[in-house]
Amino acid sequence: MNDKNLKVAVVTGAARGIGFEIAQRFHSEGYHAIIIDNDYTTMEDCQNRLKGKNGYSYFLCDVSNPEQVKSTFEKITEQFPAIHALVNNAGIAIFKPAEEVTFEDWTAVMNVNLNGTFLCSQASLSALVLGKGSIVNIASISGVRASTLRIAYGTSKAAIMHLTKQQAVEYGNKGVRANAVAPGPVETEMAKLVHSADIRTSYADAIPLARYGSTEEISNMVYFLCSPQASYINGQIIAADGGFDAAGVGLP
Ligand code: NAD
Repeated sequence: MNDKNLKVAVVTGAARGIGFEIAQRFHSEGYHAIIIDNDYTTMEDCQNRLKGKNGYSYFLCDVSNPEQVKSTFEKITEQFPAIHALVNNAGIAIFKPAEEVTFEDWTAVMNVNLNGTFLCSQASLSALVLGKGSIVNIASISGVRASTLRIAYGTSKAAIMHLTKQQAVEYGNKGVRANAVAPGPVETEMAKLVHSADIRTSYADAIPLARYGSTEEISNMVYFLCSPQASYINGQIIAADGGFDAAGVGLP
């Protein structure tokens, strides 16, 4: 690809939910959107849903698999040597009482959420340096506030926040900024899977705006953080949570 003016955004876990909305936002702003996901059927369907110009690409890749990540980013950078935005959004959630979480549960969550974020960032670093790009890691308000059922998920997200600060320090002097967004609850397939009726009621009581966030409200923040308007923001964790953290009311 020879167009030096073409901006490229890579979004992981972008076949659906928050990740799709982020990819859609970059695409509609004129970026070439690169979608990475491990669910081929949903990802292939993105071509029917994405609306924008300057094209898109998609790659089947499990972000927790080091070989797959390496070969995927080799293929991406062969075609697009410079990357302008990397959004590490791929994530899974297993909500269980701490005493019932198996080591397999724990490892699965850490592998995708934390290791995937580390691996994709490292694999794209030279391309991000070339593009003077920016990383946004999708954390969660569950990584800020501890609550029941989230020992693996919350810990993985807290670790992502610290990883973000490390990246801000260690990549910052190469011209690559790194920030994290910590969403409150957002209505997606993941929320359908892990938010029980009890959790939904307690969110409604505890969130000052008294509602779930939308995927668009999260993509607005991510797009801003990658934009020139955020050129001096580096190493920050920004919550988009309707005031949930500020209110400090507990979950069951
Ligand atoms: P989702 O389950 O709807 O979508 C996640 C996407 O990631 C899916 O397309 C899935 O196939 C993909 N994925 C999962 N494992 C993968 C892997 N190993 N490799 C590549 N792709 C993989 O979830 P969502 O609600 O859109 O969540 C997106 C991100 O936002 C996650 O990191 C999640 O933890 C975070 N988040 C979600 C909420 C919420 O309430 N929905 C709140 C806070 C943070």
